Amino acid sequence: MKRYLHFALAALLFLCVSSCGEKDVPGTLPEVQLSVSPETLAFESADKSNKIISVTAEGPWTAKSSADWIIVSPASGNGNGSVTVSVAENSNSERSGSVTIADAKISKTVSVTQESSGVNWIVPAPDPFSGRKMSSATYQLLIYSFADSDGDGIGDFKGIQSKLDYLDALGVTALWLSPAHPTSSYHAYDVDDYRTVNPLYGSEDDFKALIDAAHERGIAIYMDFVLNHSGSNNRWFKDACSDPESHYRDYYVFSDNPTADVAAGKIDNYAGAKNNGGMGEWHEITIGEAGYWGRLHFKVDWTGSTKYVTVTESKEAAQKSNPSATKWLWIGSSGNVGLYETASGIFEITLDVDTDWGFLVRSSNSDSWPAGTKYGAPSGSGPLKLGEAFKLDNSGSCGDITFGGSKSYYFSSFSGDMPDLNYGKYTDCETSPAFKAIAASADHWIDDCGVDGFRLDAVLWIYQNQTDANVRFLQQWYDRCNTVYHAVGHTEDIFMVGEAWENHGKEKLYYKGIPSCFEFDYWGALKTAVGGNASNYASTVVKFIEDHFAQRPGSAITSFHMTNHDQDRAASDLGKNLAKEKQAAAMLLTSGGKPFIYQGEELGYWGTKANGDEYVRTPIMWDKAGRDCARRGVNNKVDNSMLNAEISVEAQLANESSLLNVYRTWGSLRNTYRALGNGSMSTTSAVSGGGNAIAAWMMTFDLEPMLVIHNCAGLENTVTVSVSMDKPVALLGTASYKGDKLTLGPHSSVVFKLY
Ligand code: MG
Repeated sequence: MKRYLHFALAALLFLCVSSCGEKDVPGTLPEVQLSVSPETLAFESADKSNKIISVTAEGPWTAKSSADWIIVSPASGNGNGSVTVSVAENSNSERSGSVTIADAKISKTVSVTQESSGVNWIVPAPDPFSGRKMSSATYQLLIYSFADSDGDGIGDFKGIQSKLDYLDALGVTALWLSPAHPTSSYHAYDVDDYRTVNPLYGSEDDFKALIDAAHERGIAIYMDFVLNHSGSNNRWFKDACSDPESHYRDYYVFSDNPTADVAAGKIDNYAGAKNNGGMGEWHEITIGEAGYWGRLHFKVDWTGSTKYVTVTESKEAAQKSNPSATKWLWIGSSGNVGLYETASGIFEITLDVDTDWGFLVRSSNSDSWPAGTKYGAPSGSGPLKLGEAFKLDNSGSCGDITFGGSKSYYFSSFSGDMPDLNYGKYTDCETSPAFKAIAASADHWIDDCGVDGFRLDAVLWIYQNQTDANVRFLQQWYDRCNTVYHAVGHTEDIFMVGEAWENHGKEKLYYKGIPSCFEFDYWGALKTAVGGNASNYASTVVKFIEDHFAQRPGSAITSFHMTNHDQDRAASDLGKNLAKEKQAAAMLLTSGGKPFIYQGEELGYWGTKANGDEYVRTPIMWDKAGRDCARRGVNNKVDNSMLNAEISVEAQLANESSLLNVYRTWGSLRNTYRALGNGSMSTTSAVSGGGNAIAAWMMTFDLEPMLVIHNCAGLENTVTVSVSMDKPVALLGTASYKGDKLTLGPHSSVVFKLY
């Protein structure tokens, strides 16, 4: 009885347990349940092992991962089996996912985790801009092709003023304007009046309004001043040529016999030119009245190997130009006038003449002057005499055939329409009339208009590449302008940068004269660096700066630029490689010295001088439709394959990764951090490895160091950094670090704040 009771209790307990568990049909055997083991899988960051999930099941099942970094195999099975799980290497922070095994009724989840790789991806976190600009970055702007405000296609002062926000957003704190004076060319380096502004650009009031508006944004204005030469249409030169007694004769380098005068040492502002490493040439000119007004008969004798022209006064009716002529007169402002062949080899015409320079005979009606088609006065000959046969010369050096005056010569370093100014002996150049006159003009711009500095054109040629003479001249010029600048209330010194276009060894000597010169060797160093040979970049640039300081302790300002209006475009030099253009910008804007951005560089403009300088001076394409685009400023000589909607400011502003936005970001950074904007650059041993493609340096202001690292390789590159990489403030491309190993993506750059 007692045993029966025990059996009954056990049976009851069994039934109770069964019915309280799965919903089996009482009296049938339970199904085999789906189960998996283990319930978690943990991988290390670089774990390549396979881990196994054991599956216990009665029927078919599937295996599925929750993320593509978890790989499962097989994806399905039937009955008991296993699933192999592997993971891709983790280069990010710790991550988790799962594998789900499911049959027809239920599913089981195995959690999968993978450790962090220890890699930290760099996300720049710059401090907010304080509103106080730190940068000395300058924008080189061509007035004629920057922005047109009045629809005439030529850039102007109001156009620039309307785009000041654009310039402000680039982070620049100064503008170097192309020459603002009246001129006979589009480029304006032949100044016709130093005291006024070019009316095509606007009025002097417009110019002052631009300066005031720029100052409100913390942007200084530097004028381009051309001291070496004026334009040939400058009234000083015209007066010097028309009147032998003109007091402007002293303003230029004249000689009736250059060979003898140079040999005798009489030409102070010349001193042998070509024999002295100089350049340029003497140009024949008629001093006094060269022209004629009245009716004349011209007879050209083309019958022999020597050609003659005989000119006589005439009372016969004046004739019109012969449209089917084979010989012409080039006379006064009339241009080409066709002669009539009156006998074999004899060409004649009667004309009403109004010329202030004389005339030439031509055997071509071409607008250009094909070689050998110009017949004029033999070198050194005087004016013709009416009624007498005058022998013609077509040697190429022939001059105008004049009716009066006397022959003389003037010197120009560059071209006949840019006569060199004469500052006399360099030891007292400041007493020369030309110096005084130009300085008085500069006073006006400093005192009355508020300009903040000057860019000085062609300073090598003021005294024909004679360094000591040029340096002394520049000292006098700078001190004079600086005195005026202080007198109007400025406490700091006036800025002045010279175009001493020479190699570094010679250029640096000019710092004794003025506080800044363009370092023309810089672009070569930067180009080499972004081409992948970057390890010498920092030491080269630091040396440039140190050498300038050695010449001018305490006040040297090294001016760096990629290219300017006289060079092929940087983008062309870099093969239009956008990654390199971006990195070049980042390197320029994180280096020491004073960076200059040349108009259009920030948009990636390309162009070479092969078809004319206009093609490296292209107007800004402001919007996709081309509004305000100053095409006429460069005589419409633009490369339309470049100057289109795609390269416009409007298009690039809308593209977060555009070159323009790289300039804006890195330009702004220079204003945010004193170390970048105004700090000193030094080489560093804190970064090692990475080979020749790494350029790294420190920028420091007081105790605020920043570490700048550029990977100029087209491939990923890893360096070891021996200082703490505290706070990244700028990033171009990609960068990550793990421990002291910093990995930079192709053409990537990063800046760390170290304080
Ligand atoms: Mg205009």
